[in-house]
Amino acid sequence: MRRKPRVLFATSEAVPFMKTGGLGDVAGSLPKELKQSGVEVRVIMPKYKKIDEKYTKRMKHVCDFYMPLGWRNVYCGIEKLTHKGVVYYFVDNEYYFGRDNAYGYFDDGERIAFFSKAIVECLQYLPDFKCDILHCNDWHTALSTVFLREFYNGMEGYSNIKTIFTVHNLKFQGQMSDSVLSDILALDYNKAAADQLRTDGASVNFMKGALCYSDLLSTVSETYAEEIQTDFFGENMQDIYRRRKDVLYGIMNGIDQDEYDPSKSKALKAHFTIDDMEGKRKCKEELQKELGLEVNDSIPLITMCGRLTQQKGLDLVKHVFGEIMDLPVQFAVLGTGDREYEDMFRSFAERYPGKVAACLTFNEPLSHRLYAGGDMLLMPSLFEPCGLSQMIAMRYGTLPIVRETGGLKDSVIPYNKYTGEGTGFSFANYNAHEMLFTIQKAVKLYYEDRTSFDRLIKQAMSCDFSWKAAAEKYIEMYKRLHPELWQQEKPKKTTTKKGR
Ligand code: ADP
Repeated sequence: MRRKPRVLFATSEAVPFMKTGGLGDVAGSLPKELKQSGVEVRVIMPKYKKIDEKYTKRMKHVCDFYMPLGWRNVYCGIEKLTHKGVVYYFVDNEYYFGRDNAYGYFDDGERIAFFSKAIVECLQYLPDFKCDILHCNDWHTALSTVFLREFYNGMEGYSNIKTIFTVHNLKFQGQMSDSVLSDILALDYNKAAADQLRTDGASVNFMKGALCYSDLLSTVSETYAEEIQTDFFGENMQDIYRRRKDVLYGIMNGIDQDEYDPSKSKALKAHFTIDDMEGKRKCKEELQKELGLEVNDSIPLITMCGRLTQQKGLDLVKHVFGEIMDLPVQFAVLGTGDREYEDMFRSFAERYPGKVAACLTFNEPLSHRLYAGGDMLLMPSLFEPCGLSQMIAMRYGTLPIVRETGGLKDSVIPYNKYTGEGTGFSFANYNAHEMLFTIQKAVKLYYEDRTSFDRLIKQAMSCDFSWKAAAEKYIEMYKRLHPELWQQEKPKKTTTKKGR
């Protein structure tokens, strides 16, 4: 190899600095694995006010500049921190990022456009990093691919940069009013760009820009890569995906196996391994105590952990919750999200004291305890690009009950009572009773055939959800963009003097 390929991984969140969902996990662990596989990868993200002081204290100022954003000229600072061997750049602007949350503000369009432009603009100021590949993730960084081609092409150091755009969730696209085009992006005069950014002539769609402008596209499981080419899952982007399917990859996420390790997670009171499961029993007891559930090892505990939105299949749960409660089970949910679903779980917890617990907060350590202390994890998603919760659950010996969609289909092997195969339970249709039957099947196995249930646990815990396989596939994409960086250098000709 001539020199290491240099990738800038652009994301709006990364563990341990900021996390609101799966993207934070991915950006916190994939770069580490890529680095170990020989890619010089650096991460860039906003410097949020909420980043823990123990990290901000260690950040070093790299550069600052003023950058045009529509009619504005805005300040941008770049800070740097090396964490677990990976260099992180933080985009600093107090007006945009000095707020309590990462998203959810009236001016998100402007904040995100600022971040996306800063990613590209800063490349000329970074003293020790020249970018070969800009790897953007989700709508928060989608515009970088557009800005790169429209404003920076031809400038020194920019022309050879190739782009990848990875979609972690197609539902969130950054749909803005048309005025953004002139007011913030300054692209209204550019018909080609405007056409690729507009969806219906009346609004601007940041993600659509990236789907048109990026050299390669990917998403986070093979099944989801197929699904998004269909009308049902495509969220109005299916035509672009179908047209560009030759550059579309489906790469299943991994999980950080050090972070999610039942033998050493600091959040747990007891630890366990596949060969010594005693600690899991203790974890269940502690969890039941913590959540105010009846402390009883023999009752199966069904858990849910994640955003409480329609995507996660909560309408199915709502529809048959009474019937689930007719079973001898306990139910615990950890999540935040739509008011409707938060209220729903609050009322279930009131109606079934000691049997149902609802923790409507974002609590990382508690999530570990939930994964470790549960017997089953319910994830009946309407759609699921990849899903991490089911993989974390399997690693903690908790069997997932999932709908066969996206990454859930790719990561959970359904129980087959004839062969004994399986790492969980699954159902195909988005139908509340199909979900209920599957839960009943799992509960029946728990009570009536503990040997088979325990074998499934061992099979689930033996799955390899490391990032290794995914990193290799991303490297295949990088190679396709810059094959010359992987070609072996030709051995130098050695001239030998001919003797007489
Ligand atoms: P999504 O990215 O759609 O939110 P994923 O399953 O891919 O869903 O990832 C969700 C991640 O966020 C998992 O690591 C999960 O444990 C974590 N998580 C979600 N909600 C909470 C919560 N309320 N408290 C702690 N962790 C949470």
